[in-house]
Amino acid sequence: MTSNPVRLQAITSVEAFVPPPVTFDPGEEPGEIFGENVFSLTVMQKRLPKSVYRSVLTTIEKSAPLDPAVADAVASAMKDWALEKGATHYAHVFYPLTGLTAEKHDSFLDPVGDGTALASFSGKTLVQGEPDASSFPNGGLRNTFEARGYTGWDVMSPAYVLENPNGNTLCIPTVFISMTGEALDHKTPVLRSQQAMSAQAKRVLSLFGHEEPENVVAFCGPEQEYFLVDSHFFHARPDLLNAGRTLFGAKPPKGQEFDDHYFGAIPERVLGFMMDTERELFKLGIPAKTRHNEVAPGQFEVAPMFERANEASDHQQLTMTTFRAVAKKHGMECLFHEKPFAGVNGSGKHVNFSIGNSEQGNLLLPGDTPHENAQFLVFCAAVIRAVHLYGGLLRVSVASASNDHRLGANEAPPAIISIFLGDQLADVFDQIAKGGATRSKEKGTLMIGVDTLPDLSKDPGDRNRTSPFAFTGNRFEFRAPGSLQTVAGPMVILNTIMAEALDHCATVLEAAVADGTDFDEAVQQLLTSIISDHGAVIFNGNGYSEEWQVEAEQRGLKNLRTTVDALPELVTSEALELFEKYGVFNEREMHSRYEVGIEQYVMTVGVEANLTLEIGSTTVLPAAIRYQTELASNVAALKAAGVEADTSTRAGALTGDDPVRASRRVSRAAAYRLRAVEGLRPSSSAASATAKPSQWISMTSSRWASGSRRTASRTACCSASSGPSMTGAVLRCSRSRSVSAPRRRRERRWLASTWPAIVKSHIRWRTASSGTDSCRRQACSIVSPSRSAASSRTSTRRSK
Ligand code: ADP
Ligand code: MG
Repeated sequence: MTSNPVRLQAITSVEAFVPPPVTFDPGEEPGEIFGENVFSLTVMQKRLPKSVYRSVLTTIEKSAPLDPAVADAVASAMKDWALEKGATHYAHVFYPLTGLTAEKHDSFLDPVGDGTALASFSGKTLVQGEPDASSFPNGGLRNTFEARGYTGWDVMSPAYVLENPNGNTLCIPTVFISMTGEALDHKTPVLRSQQAMSAQAKRVLSLFGHEEPENVVAFCGPEQEYFLVDSHFFHARPDLLNAGRTLFGAKPPKGQEFDDHYFGAIPERVLGFMMDTERELFKLGIPAKTRHNEVAPGQFEVAPMFERANEASDHQQLTMTTFRAVAKKHGMECLFHEKPFAGVNGSGKHVNFSIGNSEQGNLLLPGDTPHENAQFLVFCAAVIRAVHLYGGLLRVSVASASNDHRLGANEAPPAIISIFLGDQLADVFDQIAKGGATRSKEKGTLMIGVDTLPDLSKDPGDRNRTSPFAFTGNRFEFRAPGSLQTVAGPMVILNTIMAEALDHCATVLEAAVADGTDFDEAVQQLLTSIISDHGAVIFNGNGYSEEWQVEAEQRGLKNLRTTVDALPELVTSEALELFEKYGVFNEREMHSRYEVGIEQYVMTVGVEANLTLEIGSTTVLPAAIRYQTELASNVAALKAAGVEADTSTRAGALTGDDPVRASRRVSRAAAYRLRAVEGLRPSSSAASATAKPSQWISMTSSRWASGSRRTASRTACCSASSGPSMTGAVLRCSRSRSVSAPRRRRERRWLASTWPAIVKSHIRWRTASSGTDSCRRQACSIVSPSRSAASSRTSTRRSK
């Protein structure tokens, strides 16, 4: 019967695929092009006067402030180098809260008055830019009419030349801040948090006898999972095109059940793409290292060598940009959405995290006998304290509408943040809890049973794929981050909570030393107290099991299932205090991130709602009608021919759900949810127009700060401890305010009888509209406090 011509056409085009011509010499040495387009230290050393080079080096290695006097010399050398590389423009590249990369290009050419132009680039232009900030998410940090934003060069992340067939661009990684100096981006807090963590880590190192230790930096090795889809298929799917994931679709008869994709032979076409991307990454100095097939069909992974967090984060963004561009060249689309296809695994971005410096090396390296390595144990205990105290913040650092589809779906860790230590370390900390560690489990030997093969050594700890935060021998692997997100978010949280935990360790040890306590004994007491206070966060079992959900609750660990549940963690009084104390975010910045998080969530779900409606009415419905007509004419033709055939299945299908009615249901369902989504913008705009800027911030923060129990219970959306979850409260509230119970029941019934896909979307919309309603109530409450008081009374009553 009816076939899908678009799909058939796509298959024909895929079969006719011709790989792009090879544009480089295949005999090229791998190292030949590495860093070719980077204004690296080596390039600087060659091109800068000695004193200028030394000054820049001090800034990079010792985090010393950049001497403004050297900026002109650096800019001039950078410009000459970039022009030689074919650059015509330069761009300050920054990382706004959209999670994407932003860049504004300026030509090097300046007119000189006699009709000609000269290439120029001053130190001032290198160090500072002033792009319009008005069209970037800011979460209330600035008014619409306050457009000025500033970019500032991050000296520690090297400039590079980005190639394009029509001309190249010099790219300068920068921070992006408002006129008041508040962060509007992801890089600023990474740098601030790095600084905070380093200061506290150095205090601990000093206690262990390292005089004037070097700065400690966080390292990040992000593993990136992604899907590749032939662009003909991609363009045949409006949902993939607009939402990055399929909203409709049947499961194929063969998925990933044979486990035949993971680490399978990489298809030639994909390998061609990988080699091409890696070459581009190498030119940009990005150390891509590992590549392999992932679990789902069409899914792959790339992992670079780890780097300093700020550089790794910039490189990670650049990797995603490069992958998207090179995939197109190979006739494919690269999908970074966390769950592009239902029924097969989604994609994550595991963040491997460690801290260290060039003197002491990796501070999370246990050695063969960790029980004797007191310095390692203190740093490891700091991680345990940090993750236990601030698990909610780690959870919110990976919260997004798209990652909600993946976390807790038995393909990625649950939303409960726990630590896996492995046998050896778990045993050492067990001994510490009981009074002192005296032994470490040794590495084992693997007997293979084949005479010709040598015995292999066995690691003292296993891996645990079900843990969100697993120790893997010399680093922790945070497995919850989503494939689409920037690694900056998790790195900011990790650095900041480590700063607090190391501050605690240093303070306790310094006091003990001042009291004359033996240092070893003080360390032992510190470790024992940390493990007894925070050991509940260690879990070496199966994180995917139902039992863990129950046990985690008994242990008092948070299970923040959705983004809507997680976002309020950003504005608890503990979080505000923590970030303020370590100079990473002030209160306004935290609130702005909270608001941007909600807004992004609502908009993502809003787009999906619109899309579902559009695809339902323009694609699914016409196909259903066409099919219905075919069935009807088949039944009629058989009857007319007097054929004795059993047509009950076909006739039954005809009397099933009427596509026209089904379509009406889809429209009503979508319209109903969209109403809620659309409510956000006008009321927020009205609110910001009415309230003075100062009032806006203070009212916002006073309503959302969870410190006040009264406020929290009034708005019922702050911390889990002071009231019901945001979703629950708002659902109750919206139920009471706008939709009568019988009507809601009627709506539920017709939604349940509609296609399963629509029901699924409905559930998503419910969650989304709850976020929206909350925003709307917040906004309304600013415009009209009396109305808000009335509605919050309702919500308090209902929440009992
Ligand atoms: P896995 O087997 O866990 O998938 P991969 O080889 O895919 O491991 O990726 C491991 C990642 O961890 C790489 O990006 C690697 O550079 C990074 N990594 C290794 N050692 C460290 C470290 N000490 N600190 C941070 N990241 C590290
Ligand atoms: Mg991996």
